[in-house]
This record gives sequence, structure tokens and C-alpha cells, in this order.
Amino acid sequence: MKVNREYSDPIKIRAHHILCIQGFQGYGYSKDFETHMQRIIIFLDTHPTTKIQIITKTDEICSYCPYNYKNSCNMDKYSPIIMEKLDKLIIKKFLLKENEIYPIEDILKLVNDNINHNTLIEICGNCSWNNKCLFFKNKI
Ligand code: SF4
Repeated sequence: MKVNREYSDPIKIRAHHILCIQGFQGYGYSKDFETHMQRIIIFLDTHPTTKIQIITKTDEICSYCPYNYKNSCNMDKYSPIIMEKLDKLIIKKFLLKENEIYPIEDILKLVNDNINHNTLIEICGNCSWNNKCLFFKNKI
């Protein structure tokens, strides 16, 4: 699959990815996934007023994941439920609304201003990437 997506408002982002995009170090599930994730991070970084829609299902980032099967996370039989619970936890913690549209700069500020140690552990404590993730390492 060629990574050639153009982005337009609003970009669907599942809630926990708001944190992950801040810690990405280039590691992922395939070369295409890594390339696309890097691309979207650079896009959001250089277009801070971009609108994102907060969702709890597979999103723009998942679109290049090799485990994305028919728009569902297919890593294992538990992953769709675990990921959705994580997204809902973030929505609750940061008083967001599912499916609401926000500028990415506002969301990043909200999360970074309000995250604390306990919330970080609750969200990221079991993540298999947390030993590489800069967001986790910087906030812990
Ligand atoms: S530790 Fe995992 S869940 Fe937390 S921000 Fe990093 S990649 Fe995302």
C-alpha cells in the first residue's frame, strides 16, 4: 500500500492516539504504518489549527496498520475492546465528547495541561510501546 494520503478537516483520530502522536519514535507495525504515522504527525505539527474528530474506533492512523481488518483492530480478539476502553477513558479523563470536533492545538494543550502521574499510568501503564514512547518517558 502506498502512503499518499492527503488530509482534510476533520481528521478522525481515536482518543488515545492524541497521546501516542506526541511520543512516536518511528516504531510501528509495518513500514507503511511508520511512514504514515510520521507523515500525519508532521502535518498536525505544521497545521496546528487542523480540526480533528475524536472517535473510539479505528482512525486515520489505523488506516495503514496491517492489523486493521475491515476497520477493526484485529491484533488479537481482545484488542478492539481494549482500545475502545482506552479511548473512552481518555474522553472521560479530559472531559471530551465522543465524535466532537476540536482544533488539534486545543486538544494537545488540554491533555498536556491536565495529565498527571496517575492518569498517565492508567492510560499508558500496560502499553507495549511505553519503553520507547517519548510522551510516556517525558511525563513519568
Ligand atoms: S505509552 Fe503507549 S498509549 Fe501511552 S502515549 Fe505512548 S504509545 Fe500511546
